[in-house]
Amino acid sequence: MKGSLFLGQFAQIKVYVHWTFFILFAFIIYSGVSAGQSVDAIAWHLLFLITIFGCVILHEFGHALTGRRYGFKTKDIILLPIGGLARFEKLPENPIQEFVVAIAGPMVNFAIAFVLYFITQPSAHMILNLDLSSINQENFVTLIWIVNLSLGLFNLIPAFPMDGGRIFRAILSMFQPREKATKNAARLGLLLALGFIVLGLYYNPFLIFIGGFIILSASSESSIVSAQALLEGHKAGDIVMHNFSSLNHDLSIAQASEAVLDRQSTHFVIYSDSKEVVGTVNRDQIIKSLKVMDHKTTLSSIMNPVLEHIPAETSLKELYTSQILRNNVMVPVTENGEVVGVINLENILEFLAIKQATPQWKSILQRHKPT
Ligand SMILES: [Zn+2]
Repeated sequence: MKGSLFLGQFAQIKVYVHWTFFILFAFIIYSGVSAGQSVDAIAWHLLFLITIFGCVILHEFGHALTGRRYGFKTKDIILLPIGGLARFEKLPENPIQEFVVAIAGPMVNFAIAFVLYFITQPSAHMILNLDLSSINQENFVTLIWIVNLSLGLFNLIPAFPMDGGRIFRAILSMFQPREKATKNAARLGLLLALGFIVLGLYYNPFLIFIGGFIILSASSESSIVSAQALLEGHKAGDIVMHNFSSLNHDLSIAQASEAVLDRQSTHFVIYSDSKEVVGTVNRDQIIKSLKVMDHKTTLSSIMNPVLEHIPAETSLKELYTSQILRNNVMVPVTENGEVVGVINLENILEFLAIKQATPQWKSILQRHKPT
């Protein structure tokens, strides 16, 4: 993620912290100084914040390492002021696996709380008289104990895509299709998010952020799942583009811009002299390079080289969320080792749009198949 600082690596998972996180540090120092607090007091507050986020990192490792047991890799863990995020390359779809991976995070916090309970042995009197405005040696561990209990409980709120929401979806999808389960979990998530926002207006503006974040991520994840349901059973070969514009690799970018004007296409496949697909390029790349490069520069120096081919039998559902098609790059599709066409993300989106537009999509698309 942009603007993130590399903190370190554990179990081959890199941990980053987002720059906005440092606003929190600055805020604590600023409010401490303006309230006339001692250096010691401010240091305890900072240590408190760092320890909380340490617990958040451990929570994320709970997800990441449990996911790994099922074979799901985590790209990285990123710390944002609103919490942590373990970014999986792919999330488990099996309800039991999803359940276990989702609950592992809060369980880490409960485990920490369990250990701290025996260290502090807090009495009811002690808890009721905790003073949050002054964090010190006496109350520090008790506060961290409370923080971990709260983190565990808070994440169990079934507001999809928070952990509790994922647990809820996993349970629902034991009884209904995953797409329907996601929609229902997202609906409950939306309702709870609105609740957060209303509470936030009265009590703590931080809840407004969390509510907004839940709404945004729930809608994006639920649209991915409905797209995946529509793509189920389809293969790259079903929607491959047979009609595409091609250009020779040794054309200059000036000549290529002629082709941009002359043709309808926005994406081009680059061929080598031996008629092999060696790369792809889009209209914007050609135009951008005109600005900054010698106009005699050849396409081979600005193209996206073709690093992999997609076999025609590749599942579209997998392809839709895979890294191969990121940035809408075009990739050749091969059948028995021969290039039969190209595919990009736009192509998949068009297919989804056609399929959603009419139940007769099958007979419509059949006509376009080459004979
Ligand atoms: Zn979590």
